[in-house]
Amino acid sequence: MTASNPASAASSIADRLAVVRERIAKTCVAAGRDPSSVILTAVSKTQADEALEAALAAGQRVFGENRVQEAQMHWAARRAALPDLELRLIGPLQTNKAVEAVELFDVIETLDREKLAAALAVAMAKTGRRPRVLVQVNTGAESQKAGVLPQDADALIAAARDDHGLNLEGLMCIPPADEAPEPHFRLLAEIAARNGLSVLSMGMSGDYETAISNGATHVRVGSALFGERIAPLKPS
Ligand SMILES: *Cc1c(COP(=O)(O)O)cnc(C)c1O
Repeated sequence: MTASNPASAASSIADRLAVVRERIAKTCVAAGRDPSSVILTAVSKTQADEALEAALAAGQRVFGENRVQEAQMHWAARRAALPDLELRLIGPLQTNKAVEAVELFDVIETLDREKLAAALAVAMAKTGRRPRVLVQVNTGAESQKAGVLPQDADALIAAARDDHGLNLEGLMCIPPADEAPEPHFRLLAEIAARNGLSVLSMGMSGDYETAISNGATHVRVGSALFGERIAPLKPS
């Protein structure tokens, strides 16, 4: 790791951001899409402050975090000075953290059950904040993975929108690690299309170009920007 030297960490993160942005733009052009139609979410989970600062210095403003508590440590104090910051929750959310999540995040990508939709609606009424919401679909029907099963997605989408009044704008998926991602991206795009949803959060460091070719509007890139994560942060 080069993180002990802030200057070199900064330049390498800036360089990697430039490379990923360039590859996103090229893939868009090849797919006949406007490069501005794909948003890069920089996944900053487990990263040190220098890495966050380096990404901010390079102009990055959209960040993904997978834990509410870590996201608060990373961003709560920085928020006030960054009016254009956009924070996206990309990890599983427990109902007892709904208020904290609604207070911090601009987008919650991991709605996967009706009980959570209800908790988010209550949290939004209580806080007066209305983050946009994506439904996470477990496209590979993996037992250990969060997300609503594909066959239950339409019903959850309808309940979130119509019964709980959430500002639902799209879908998110994490394909199985050991399978070709493309069929999963296609399935997510199909579910979104038939439900009239325009946002597709799909594609990570290893497959974001494939995701863009299949309609991704948001790609979630961590290690390709920040280097390999060492270990998840543990509460002390
Ligand atoms: C960690 C994470 C990512 C980023 O993964 P990389 O392979 O490091 O780009 C994307 N999405 C989710 C949901 C994640 O938890």
